[in-house]
Amino acid sequence: MSVINTGLLVNTEGCRQAKELVTQVTPGLTQFALRQCRRDLRTLVYLLIRHNTLTRHLTIIQRVNDPLCPLCKEEEETSLYFLGKCCATANKRRLHFGVLFLEPGDLK
Ligand SMILES: [Zn+2]
Repeated sequence: MSVINTGLLVNTEGCRQAKELVTQVTPGLTQFALRQCRRDLRTLVYLLIRHNTLTRHLTIIQRVNDPLCPLCKEEEETSLYFLGKCCATANKRRLHFGVLFLEPGDLK
């Protein structure tokens, strides 16, 4: 919560993928995050800071050998790929967001 609330994420070096999703901290983003239950907020923060169970991160910490998305095997499973580009979850995005694919700008 404090990562989003204080702007620490945006003002910290590194966190490339998170900065692709969050370029500035807005009151709307902060309020959205604070309305989430603890579990969903944890998932949101893990997706932003890449400390998650997606295969790109698991490859970096040497838990798995293949960084490709386990659902489609087309690209490395990063947060951006998982949230917006994986073709295997496109129908779920259409159901929840009304579109099959999301660009980084759509996720801000
Ligand atoms: Zn995929």
